[in-house]
Amino acid sequence: MSTSTPQKFEFQAEIKQLLDIVIHSLYTEKEIFLRELVSNASDALEKLRHQQLTEPAVFDDKLELEINVTTDDKAKTITIQDFGIGMTREELVKNLGTIAHSGSKAFLKALGEGAQKNSNLIGQFGVGFYSAFMVAKSVKVYTHSWRAEEAGLVWESDGSGSYTIEESEGLHRGAKIVIELKDDCADYASDWKAKEILERYSAFVSFPISLNGKRVNTVQALWLRGKSEVKEEEYTEFYKFQAHAFDEPQLRLHFSADAPLSIHALLFVPKENTEKLGLSRLEPSVSLYCRKVLIDAKPKDLLPEWLRFLKGVVDSEDIPLNISRETMQDKALIEKLNRVITKRFLKFLEEEAKNRTDAYHEFYREFGFFLKEGAALDFTHKDQLVKLLRFESSLTEKGKFTSLADYVTRMGSEQKEIYYLVGPNRASIEAGPYLEGFKARNLEVLFCYEAVDEYVMNNVREFDSKKLTAADHADVKLSDLPAQEGALAAADTETLVKWLKEALGARVAEVKSSDRLVDSPVLALNADKFMSPHMRRMMKAMNKEGADSPLRVNLEINPRHAVIKRLFATHTSAPERAQLVAEQLLDNALISAGLLEDTTAMVARLNKLLETV
Ligand code: ADP
Ligand code: MG
Repeated sequence: MSTSTPQKFEFQAEIKQLLDIVIHSLYTEKEIFLRELVSNASDALEKLRHQQLTEPAVFDDKLELEINVTTDDKAKTITIQDFGIGMTREELVKNLGTIAHSGSKAFLKALGEGAQKNSNLIGQFGVGFYSAFMVAKSVKVYTHSWRAEEAGLVWESDGSGSYTIEESEGLHRGAKIVIELKDDCADYASDWKAKEILERYSAFVSFPISLNGKRVNTVQALWLRGKSEVKEEEYTEFYKFQAHAFDEPQLRLHFSADAPLSIHALLFVPKENTEKLGLSRLEPSVSLYCRKVLIDAKPKDLLPEWLRFLKGVVDSEDIPLNISRETMQDKALIEKLNRVITKRFLKFLEEEAKNRTDAYHEFYREFGFFLKEGAALDFTHKDQLVKLLRFESSLTEKGKFTSLADYVTRMGSEQKEIYYLVGPNRASIEAGPYLEGFKARNLEVLFCYEAVDEYVMNNVREFDSKKLTAADHADVKLSDLPAQEGALAAADTETLVKWLKEALGARVAEVKSSDRLVDSPVLALNADKFMSPHMRRMMKAMNKEGADSPLRVNLEINPRHAVIKRLFATHTSAPERAQLVAEQLLDNALISAGLLEDTTAMVARLNKLLETV
């Protein structure tokens, strides 16, 4: 009830301007008004708590430090009440009528510069309170200061340029903000809508928040607690809540930093990679907070693309909570956060790989794809990422990994390059003709099973100044092996090579005696430097141009193999049959390379050959 005539005030010119912006264009998400008012309530409670430490005589001393939100869908109102510090008449005028003196700012100054980082205050919100006018026909602030001698007051405005203050009796300590909603914003007066917003933005506010009598925030902001204080189950529960997940995280990184930025981060790697399961591309989902209040649930540039599988929270007090925070115009700061967090996460993976190798490999099997993507595309972090890559190889057991660094330690002094082969799986690479020459010379070959691997290896190019080289590439030169007994003589081999070149015509670019075949009669090498067999298959699958250019390969023959020796004999004695055998050998090589596209001609030829048996 009013005990004095209302006193009328004009808003400061800047506020009028601000209100105009807020009401008409600033925020796209109107719902954040509730986040702002809850933040203010939390601030006010924090200030009161601080006050109580030094000032025992506080008005309404028995009240709990809590926030109560109530909605009334009939009256179309939403009310946010706190039992915080409240405001005097002067404070109302200063805090809600001018922009120059934000209460939080003054409070922080009073606490002293050094205290800022430790205080739990929500910082300098540029439009905080005024965001209420995005949804409000009118706003009433009922308030009583913590100082007992002050009067209860009600501040009221429709945001159009002026406000009134008058005295009001029977008020509790703190502030009660009653918003009469615009007709098109009446939704915010419904319980479910308010619940949704509070859960999204204010889930981690330290003080209890109730909505229409029911508690809404039950999970703590774990990331601000010390690692040793948090139990394993709490982490898991937090992960499930924050990431809306049903699995349990397989890796977790919880860290804080003061320099160059204040950061509290709690990051999780889920159990499963849903992109691998063929589900849609993951969206960035490490949320950005400033002192427990959500700034952006899916910030695009907070982490590099290839870290899109991470879940969790990054909280930084250094984010300027000014007018632009909704759109995060402060790119430089986000970039800085990005650098610090990415570096820290990479270091974490390095430690995991070293200290908990099995767990790291389990992680790698599921999420290695993302590290490869980063190694191929993220120049800034490439070096660190390449170290984290893992492969099976001709020297590992099936299912066991090696790193590039370990590969290098096993290289002989002669070996200058790191070799790899791409194939669908271990069995097919081992059965193919490409590996045997390397095996015979004790050269280790990395096995790559994923479609992207070739692209990744091409982009990574080298490790430890050693070139990454495809073992099925025509340019690879291998050392001589001791001549084997029973092999076709050099001159005869040369004769056969010439004959084969003639017999196979345009289907081959080159025929030569091989230095890399041991058990197989022939192999096909890629004549086209720029399109490996693998790439050709991929382009074909994607119907890309270029995939139809006539296929030309280099054919290598093994002069030690019985089939080749036999062919040398028949190419003069039975030239017609030799022709069929030559073509069939080429097709066999193409099959091993995964390059034989049309098998009908081959089947007809095989039938003809079988007639001669
Ligand atoms: P900020 O929170 O960044 O200071 P706001 O526009 O949100 O900016 O609020 C302006 C000021 O109004 C606050 O600094 C505070 O002094 C005062 N204020 C707002 N809400 C409350 C409240 N619930 N209780 C006490 N003071 C409040
Ligand atoms: Mg505020």
